[in-house]
Amino acid sequence: MSEMRIDRVETVIVDIPLRRPHRFARARMDAQPVLYVFVRTAGGITGVGEGVVPGGPWWAGESVETMQVIVERYIVPVLLGRGVDEIPRILRDISDVVAANLFAKTAVEVALHDAWARHLEVPLHTLLGGAARTSVAVTWALGTEPAPVVVEEALGKLDTGLHRSFKLKMGAHEPTDDIARIEAVAEKLAGVAGIRVDLNARWDRLTSLTHLPRLAEAGVEMVEQPVPGHDISSLAAISAALPIPVMADESLHTPADALRLVTAGAAAIFAVKTTKSGGLRASRGIAEVAAAAGVPCYAATSIESPIGTAASLHFACSSPAADWGSELFGPLLMAAEMLVAPLVYDTDGLHLPDGPGLGVELDPARIREFRRD
Ligand code: MN
Repeated sequence: MSEMRIDRVETVIVDIPLRRPHRFARARMDAQPVLYVFVRTAGGITGVGEGVVPGGPWWAGESVETMQVIVERYIVPVLLGRGVDEIPRILRDISDVVAANLFAKTAVEVALHDAWARHLEVPLHTLLGGAARTSVAVTWALGTEPAPVVVEEALGKLDTGLHRSFKLKMGAHEPTDDIARIEAVAEKLAGVAGIRVDLNARWDRLTSLTHLPRLAEAGVEMVEQPVPGHDISSLAAISAALPIPVMADESLHTPADALRLVTAGAAAIFAVKTTKSGGLRASRGIAEVAAAAGVPCYAATSIESPIGTAASLHFACSSPAADWGSELFGPLLMAAEMLVAPLVYDTDGLHLPDGPGLGVELDPARIREFRRD
């Protein structure tokens, strides 16, 4: 249909300030860089998608700068003149000219879905088969700071009623110091709130098998990705040794990865991020493999602004297997509201918007304010 023909694609990088610096094992960020991709159709509809990584290329090699080049130079020529309702064929043609670069592809894939759903005047989750739920619980992420700092932040968050569980980043300190730090946090919080940890692939099998059992004893309820993404056999060995679930994140990008993890019995929970997988359809593919294997999915985050958060929310709410909650807290960590009307977080978690497309609208004034020159 000619109304749905793509006649313009624009990209914008914004640096969104954070309420506090966010620390990972090897990186720290004070502002979150985000790439927005705007796909405009002949009918005057604009769809938007977000390309984002947690602070920089340390996580998977991509950054907003690499995404912008890949999108503008290689993907835009594939898009122009095509209909936003021909997504499978467009994605096939994109994969013919761009291998990997799943974060960049996500920005485009989500923008296409947003534009198509807006043309049809339906919420994006309708394109994904409809809603299985209308809200998701939201875990708050705590950084690698000392225990007293982390506990104070956690107690403050519990008072808001918005979060009932916390994920602590590990891997920035020596293993024995790091374990002692988490034990001190768990002593104050276990039983009051769910405590989970994310090693971000910093340890090896022996370090994990030596130290992680102490965390289980301390009341930690889940361990995320202790070993490098490629090391599926170690992930499986750690899963087998621990009495608590191990979640796969860096090991899981594609439905094929999901199948490999299931076959190896490597993870009890899958961290699914629309950002790292190439978008909504690949995330759905992972969730279908997970459902068939009886593995729950968790709607994880690359610390998206409200656009990427809304995309992941539509995925999570339309995927029955995504029933282990979420960490879609990105907008809450940001010091500026990027939307005309904010996403709704309350004691039930984050609520699925019901307007057309993503159901949220970027505020042009905020784009101008944070746009990188
Ligand atoms: Mn992770």
